[in-house]
Amino acid sequence: MVGFFLSWPAEKITFRPKLWLYMELICHRISIPLKTPFVTSFGAQDYRTAMIFEMKHNGITAFSEAVTDKEPFYSYEDNTTAFHIIEAYLAEQIKDAPTPEKFIDRVKFVKGHLMAKAALEMLLWDYHAKEEGIPLYRYIGPTNGKAQVGISIGMAGPDEMKKQTSNAVEMGYKRIKVKIKKGREDEIVKNVRSAIGDFPLSVDANTDFSLEDTEALKVLDKYNLVYMEQPLDHDDVMDHAELARRINTPICLDESIISRDRARKAISSRACTVINIKPGRVSGFTESLAIAKLAREHGIHTWVGGMLETGVGRAFNVALASSSFIDYPGDTSPNEKYFEKDIVKNPFKMENGFITPNEGPGIGVEIDRERLEKVTIDRVRLL
Ligand SMILES: [Mg+2]
Repeated sequence: MVGFFLSWPAEKITFRPKLWLYMELICHRISIPLKTPFVTSFGAQDYRTAMIFEMKHNGITAFSEAVTDKEPFYSYEDNTTAFHIIEAYLAEQIKDAPTPEKFIDRVKFVKGHLMAKAALEMLLWDYHAKEEGIPLYRYIGPTNGKAQVGISIGMAGPDEMKKQTSNAVEMGYKRIKVKIKKGREDEIVKNVRSAIGDFPLSVDANTDFSLEDTEALKVLDKYNLVYMEQPLDHDDVMDHAELARRINTPICLDESIISRDRARKAISSRACTVINIKPGRVSGFTESLAIAKLAREHGIHTWVGGMLETGVGRAFNVALASSSFIDYPGDTSPNEKYFEKDIVKNPFKMENGFITPNEGPGIGVEIDRERLEKVTIDRVRLL
């Protein structure tokens, strides 16, 4: 039943065939306002337009979130392409609720589209952890039981950035990351350093520079940054390796690391000493865990990034960020940093710079149906 538009809430569908045969997959397309616009080198964003997936099978309800957005600014995927790939090729591959590993193997015939694949792969992790009756953060292996939390701060005027970064230090965040762009890098870091002293600070350039900008990037060496994230092209490794030879600031790769194979190449060419793992970018948890283990074997630091996810996607990130294989603070801020009101009833709270993953089975989120309804643009039944 592909592309069947529903005009009534999913929970009002009462027809239930034999439980073990029943499979329902719903995509809730939502638009939820951000508290303040988030400004990166790509532009300003004031809404998160997301796709929340809900699967009902075998008496279990699982959730996930695609990390794509309206526009293909972070990567080539956007909500429209991801929805198309899921509807046309991927949805039917989860009919029997395979293990996440099996699903990833099955969908190899679709090239790329890792964010679309991640949305369903992570749905299966939630499903299988719930089937076992254990929290996802335990289901995925050795855990620290909590996640160190850093904060990602978008670009703003000098006073506003001073205010936001000083507040972040006071709130107990373990690391601050500020967005930079070409031509503003020195001014931004200088201003922030003057506000927070030698507090752990990193910068994220979101691909805004090229090797020709080496001199400008070298200027940042004096600020003793924990790392500089993805200064060069989104799918580059070799130029980052060259840049790493030219500057002292450690390089962290984000956009470039799309798989364990790409991580292997980045590590062996010494393009980075830090990797930002975003499960939604690398086709899900199977690949995320493989990258984290590979990095650990090679003494490379890892942390878990975010894509302005709602409480659903955030719960996956917090579970992963609590893994023993992750050693740096991630961008897993409490929900209230981004949204006035989230679509979950149990948002994360930060205590002393840590967030504790949910203890309920799977991702452990309690969906706020009323809020979800309010921010829903439309709802499509895919299975
Ligand atoms: Mg980044």
